[in-house]
Amino acid sequence: MPELGDHAITLSDVVKEFPIRRGTSVRALDRFDLTIGHGEFVAILGPSGCGKSTVLRLVAGLEQPTEGQVQVEGREPAELIREHRLGVAFQEHALLPWASARSNIGLPFKVAGRPVDGPRVDALLELVGLTGFADARPRQLSGGMRQRVAIARALALNPDVLLLDEPFGALDAVTRRRMNLELARIWMAQRITTLLVTHDVDEAVLLADRVVVMTGRPGRVRHIQQVEIPRPRSTEATRDPAFHALVDQLTGLLDAAEPAGPGARPAA
Ligand code: ADP
Repeated sequence: MPELGDHAITLSDVVKEFPIRRGTSVRALDRFDLTIGHGEFVAILGPSGCGKSTVLRLVAGLEQPTEGQVQVEGREPAELIREHRLGVAFQEHALLPWASARSNIGLPFKVAGRPVDGPRVDALLELVGLTGFADARPRQLSGGMRQRVAIARALALNPDVLLLDEPFGALDAVTRRRMNLELARIWMAQRITTLLVTHDVDEAVLLADRVVVMTGRPGRVRHIQQVEIPRPRSTEATRDPAFHALVDQLTGLLDAAEPAGPGARPAA
């Protein structure tokens, strides 16, 4: 059996409760267990409010588990954050509006107190297909382009782990599909351990090696599905009957997920 530290990401027996008001708390996660291997792409699917973002925020060190353990590369997430080894692209992580795409991608170097690595920034601009837009401000870019800048920024410091929370949630369906294919290509070039939170079943199947389906709140692992569709995955993959069969199966599991109950209970 591999030790805890052999996995890129481990959540073991995690309970997360949030205090709400007058001594009550809401249990967002209940005995949540998941291990993610090095270089693996895992997508988490679940009904709204089931605790998907909470899982990601725990891995990003933005929340502490009430019970259980969360480790990244066998260590506390906070330690990896201090070393700038986690790349994070959350929907709410806006780009600096007054800064160019190039400056936004170079920002993590400044935050880390390091000189901006110009060739690395150029390589990332190329990786996300924005070489010609290096000097454009966010408002001059489309929504899809802005998300590509956000992903390039998350990759800037060569993180060990990439965390993506609904990165394409604000995009229309056509752009979203294009961005999914783009992310599949970027991931193939980097093979970085990635944890993606989404409520889009197609997105999860197109991108992930494994898809985790959560129950309604309090969130637990309901099912883990290996996605055997070969890579590279392109538009062709989305026409494959195996792709649709998997999407149907996972959609069925999601539909059957318990509706979010009140979940509130007196704090211990
Ligand atoms: P999802 O990402 O699946 O939509 P979240 O992880 O955002 O779900 O939230 C899970 C549950 O925890 C929700 O019921 C939400 O209201 C609650 N929750 C999340 N963050 C907090 C917080 N900071 N304070 C109180 N409740 C919270």
